[in-house]
Amino acid sequence: MGTKAREIAGKDLKKTIALLNKAYADEWLAYYQYWVGAKVAIGIMRGAVTSELEQHAQEELKHATMLTERIIQLGGEPILNPQNWVKETNCGYKAPTDPKVVTLLKQNIEGEQCAIEVYNKLADSVKDKDIVTYNMILEILKDEVEHEEDLEAILRDIQTGK
Ligand code: FE
Ligand code: FE
Ligand code: MG
Repeated sequence: MGTKAREIAGKDLKKTIALLNKAYADEWLAYYQYWVGAKVAIGIMRGAVTSELEQHAQEELKHATMLTERIIQLGGEPILNPQNWVKETNCGYKAPTDPKVVTLLKQNIEGEQCAIEVYNKLADSVKDKDIVTYNMILEILKDEVEHEEDLEAILRDIQTGK
């Protein structure tokens, strides 16, 4: 970032970087929860569920990429040690120890609902000081809203027996 951009974003820059890093931790954990969940899933509509989980995993990885690039642009450092993902996460990690698709769907819906809250707050906190970050957050938020919707639709289909 050049001097003018830094001056504009400069207010609360440290705080923004810290919040972006917490979201970054969430994205890696969400990525892994989806990715490994798709591998171990068993039960009804497994094929449809795993392809959705795999797609979401890739999208969470894309979010992690967007966040880390922005953190670096802002002059920050992305979390370098995976141990700190667990320390910094907002939404945590739910291990798929019960690999039934219904349980996986419920766990991932919870994660998406948390992500929606996190990005809503993050959008609020940057909107008056950092438009570029704000736009990126909105882009991610749009995906998380879609993720929740997709998972709830599959769960509904399973529960109504269709
Ligand atoms: Fe995400
Ligand atoms: Fe998501
Ligand atoms: Mg989807």
